[in-house]
Amino acid sequence: MTQDFSQMLTTNPFDDDKLKEECGVFGIFGHNGAASLTALGLHALQHRGQEAAGIVSTDGEHFHSHRGSGHVADNFGTEAVIKKLPGTMAIGHVRYSTTGETMLRNVQPLFADFEFGGLAIGHNGNLTNALTLRKQLVRRGCLFQSTTDTEVIVHLIAISLYSTVEERVIDALRQVEGAYSLVCLTQNSVIGVRDPLGIRPLVLGKLGGSWILASESCALDIVGAEFVRDVEAGELVIIDHNGLRSLKPFHKVKQRFCIFEYIYFARPDSVMEGTSVYEVRKRIGQELARESHVEADVVIPVPDSGVPAALGYAAQANIPFELGIIRNHYVGRTFIEPTDSIRHLGVKLKHNANRAHIAGKRVVLVDDSIVRGTTSTKIVEMVRQAGATEVHMRISSPPTTYSCFYGIDTPEREKLLAARYDVAGMAKLIGVDSLAFISLDGLYRAVGEEARDGEHPQYCDACFTGDYPITLTDQSGGEDPCAFSTLTGGH
Ligand code: AMP
Repeated sequence: MTQDFSQMLTTNPFDDDKLKEECGVFGIFGHNGAASLTALGLHALQHRGQEAAGIVSTDGEHFHSHRGSGHVADNFGTEAVIKKLPGTMAIGHVRYSTTGETMLRNVQPLFADFEFGGLAIGHNGNLTNALTLRKQLVRRGCLFQSTTDTEVIVHLIAISLYSTVEERVIDALRQVEGAYSLVCLTQNSVIGVRDPLGIRPLVLGKLGGSWILASESCALDIVGAEFVRDVEAGELVIIDHNGLRSLKPFHKVKQRFCIFEYIYFARPDSVMEGTSVYEVRKRIGQELARESHVEADVVIPVPDSGVPAALGYAAQANIPFELGIIRNHYVGRTFIEPTDSIRHLGVKLKHNANRAHIAGKRVVLVDDSIVRGTTSTKIVEMVRQAGATEVHMRISSPPTTYSCFYGIDTPEREKLLAARYDVAGMAKLIGVDSLAFISLDGLYRAVGEEARDGEHPQYCDACFTGDYPITLTDQSGGEDPCAFSTLTGGH
């Protein structure tokens, strides 16, 4: 314990987590089965984080918490656990981080006792000045219990001079920079808030007389709740016995919702900002087929993430669609395994070729993104071994050339294939006959916007453009995240 503490004071506490967590949140007010519905909601959000899950409930007097590593079903699959979480209000969280040890103390929701009572917080997103604030807070005597950026918000709430919970939360959030969709639980309310740019999603739903907050609408569907609306960028909603109140406590800025949620992260059956994720993905596939047509016999998705875009591509190109690669669903998301060697192993465990639909054919493979290039390289090799005569790869995102600092898990820039090679170089490396990515304008058309407006783009597309809409305060104190130069020229 002593050793741990001194490390926290002298090293970068976030190194372990690389500050790149992606998560899902859920909250419910006014239901007798609050914890049980939260477990179901988190189960629907499992794709947003498989490392750990947690629920905090309250009966209006005491708080009850259960948190653990692993899947939602592993932690909340029994009635006995749910029974330990009584009350009509609850919030929950699913989490992953790519590297570093999985520490139980980092599993959310975080909970603390304040002057005004207890407060639990679940956070999806990533703060970009957390380290800077943490150093200041440690100097002021705050003792941190975890290495998550979210704990900075907890301490800022604790030291705020305002009196009400909502004023303190607002006061804290005015000091943080970055992306956050939060659900908070107090003894008598559930609070939801989205950062001023609305980078990460958060939706509001209703189940009879109960209010629900969730990262995605699929978490409302699972409990039979009705979708009410998205929580707006910069909006804070307070749900208590008087109903729902909405505040806009931040300086208004133009919304920049994360475009990668549409491309990959969200579940395809979710509706975000009024647009179906599935439809966007299909439209990207159509745009791709228009932009980079190739003569071929079959369109094959890299499952599952490539499926809707491949459907769109096949329909537009008038080429048969086949499930030429079958995915084993009992293996977690390849990308998030902690080490390179396991990641390689994961790809092999995860996919198998459906030979009858590949042998002797010119294949168009469709996937959503190339990050390190591990998946594509393995899949292409597998498809060639299954007898494809030509392999053409089509990617439903522009090249991922920059790391995300707002909550999507991406490796450092050095490890991004597109930051190191141009398209021809990448094609050679992954072993395809041709490789094409959707253009940025094509992507904007698919999400329903005319084109990316250079000065005021409608989305956060920093992973493709390096145009970071929120200052990277912690990064600028150290190495410039954009300073890494390409090894083989432009892309
Ligand atoms: P890689 O194998 O490193 O090139 O990663 C690309 C694969 O990982 C694609 O098949 C994507 O579906 C998936 N992927 C892309 N971004 C992420 C992410 N942030 N988290 C988890 N998986 C991802």
